[in-house]
Amino acid sequence: MTLAPYACDPVHSRGRQFAEPQAPTRTVFQRDRDRIVHSTAFRRLVYKTQVFLNHEGDLFRTRLTHSLEVAQLGRSVARSLGLNEDLVEAIALAHDLGHTPFGHAGQDALNDCMREHGGFEHNIQSLRVVDFLEESYPQFNGINLSFETREGILKHCSYEHARLLEAREPCGVGRRFLDGTQPSLEAQLCNLADEIAYNAHDIDDGVRSGLITMAQLHEVALFDDFQFQVISDFPELVKLQNQRRLLFETIRRMLSAQVYDLIAVSQAALAVAMPQSPDDIRQMPPLLAFGSDMRRRSGQLKQFLFRNLYRHSQVMQKTVLAKQVVRELFDAYLASPLELPANFGIAFEPAEGHKIQTTPPERLVADYIAGMTDRFAAREHERLTGRRLLG
Ligand code: MG
Repeated sequence: MTLAPYACDPVHSRGRQFAEPQAPTRTVFQRDRDRIVHSTAFRRLVYKTQVFLNHEGDLFRTRLTHSLEVAQLGRSVARSLGLNEDLVEAIALAHDLGHTPFGHAGQDALNDCMREHGGFEHNIQSLRVVDFLEESYPQFNGINLSFETREGILKHCSYEHARLLEAREPCGVGRRFLDGTQPSLEAQLCNLADEIAYNAHDIDDGVRSGLITMAQLHEVALFDDFQFQVISDFPELVKLQNQRRLLFETIRRMLSAQVYDLIAVSQAALAVAMPQSPDDIRQMPPLLAFGSDMRRRSGQLKQFLFRNLYRHSQVMQKTVLAKQVVRELFDAYLASPLELPANFGIAFEPAEGHKIQTTPPERLVADYIAGMTDRFAAREHERLTGRRLLG
């Protein structure tokens, strides 16, 4: 496949922190993707929740299936825009590696626990997983990914964290949050693919769970217009026994419309800006975007999901319990560090070239809890406190 001049070319990668010989048959980005797929953190995504707790139903999205959907959407847009599909796939598969158990409830609770100790951000944690926490190579911590994949993984970052990253890695992945530049188009694309994916699958999971109804979705223009179109094309889908097909076909059209809008609007912006290299892209304003109408409609859908699904009373009840599990786990490990597994019980030997002296116990505990799956966290909580709050 021919890459556009503004796409990231593996031949010109800024490389890995620890130099390694080239692989005979794979590019740098293909190798990054393969390392991610074989990582322990990747396998854990199957038991981590997106909105619903992992044990609540077998058919809801997990972080793993979400990541696969992001990779699929991202690759198909990348192909149309001449971007590097392998890099998009690597970033998409790794973008949620740092998520705690229990979705945003877990992350909020851990951030509270870590308030006095540098806080907890899941994007930073995703980077920590690939830079330090994976233990599969004899020579270094982490999986030694290329700059471009790491740049994409660090989707957001506070100014404070960016300064710490910059101190450790000058002109590295933290830099753009200090000087206001953009990441590669492949990274920009993953952020949009993430949004398109969860907006669509959260409607599906929301309806499947019964927490939102098809009738409620009439207020969402993006959904309602396509549903109207689907019913005009297939009138028999209004029957009760055909509701799932109606929902699927509506979501399918909604997804396609967003993808085609993104491609057309971005192609137009690229034609005007004429970037000649990925470094041009980093200096320009964001070039990948929806058109203004799609942006508005997608924003309306997001607000609908926020109000009716993420803040649904049943979800909120679980949120309260999940936060309690995380807080109590944190306190329990800090009080009894011997309960931590051996590799977390000792301070990390920092890889050569890193200026970190020792890892404080709070950070070790946060790293350990962040890596847990939903069910492991619930079981550990029961083991350490004698009380069962979830599952
Ligand atoms: Mg995501």
